[in-house]
Amino acid sequence: MATRVLVVSPHLDDAVLSAGGRIHRLASEGAQVTVFTAFAGVPTPPYSPIAEYFHYVWGLETDPVEHRRREDEAALALLGAEPLHGSFLDAVYRRRPDGSWLVDMDQPAVQGNDVPEPALGPELETAVASLLDTLRPDLVLTCAAVGNHLDHRRARDAVVTAACGKVPLHCWEDLPYGMREPEAPDLPVGAEFGPAVAETASDRAWAAKYAAVECYRSQHSMLWPGDVRVPELFDAHGALRARTHAAEGRAELFWPVVPGSA
Ligand SMILES: [Zn+2]
Repeated sequence: MATRVLVVSPHLDDAVLSAGGRIHRLASEGAQVTVFTAFAGVPTPPYSPIAEYFHYVWGLETDPVEHRRREDEAALALLGAEPLHGSFLDAVYRRRPDGSWLVDMDQPAVQGNDVPEPALGPELETAVASLLDTLRPDLVLTCAAVGNHLDHRRARDAVVTAACGKVPLHCWEDLPYGMREPEAPDLPVGAEFGPAVAETASDRAWAAKYAAVECYRSQHSMLWPGDVRVPELFDAHGALRARTHAAEGRAELFWPVVPGSA
């Protein structure tokens, strides 16, 4: 049984959306669970047009990231996990080497490794390696980057590079992205995914996850445009993952990462 767990979340909400049930279970079993959100850095104005637009949609026009950090603290308290907020800026606050914004209004879906950010990968790896040193986890969880969001890919690759082969590492199916597409992009050279494992969440863990998801109120309108009933969506997906991966009830999906042959 895991006693110290490091969870690396790209954004403030990803770990809870995708692995909240498992985080709750690990914490209930007595593990010390730390959720490090890498791209939780506090930006300073001026903001990019797309960031201004997001702030408007979120209803957070002053100190947006500070507010989202408070949401994360409330959510993780419900799961029994400790928040740790990284200083890396979300893609919507970053610039390209020529000074232009990384993410543009007319090209909002920057994916995978479309954009060269040569310094960022090593900096993320250093941050993760230092957490491995100080926390000495016996299990690491991070995203599989299903959906290929730029920040998810960067966080995942840094964790895989820093942790693979040193400590058991499981990558979660990114939700809600995984409800639309099943595949994760390839891992960095030297690592590969093992067969997926569905982790059943108890009714109690599932309820705690929903309560925690509720805490990220500023993100709801972006995650679920319109009138979507979130519990129904997650219930159906969790049941599907359990059914197709020989598990009971409702489950979250994880891929173990193992050193590859390449
Ligand atoms: Zn995210």
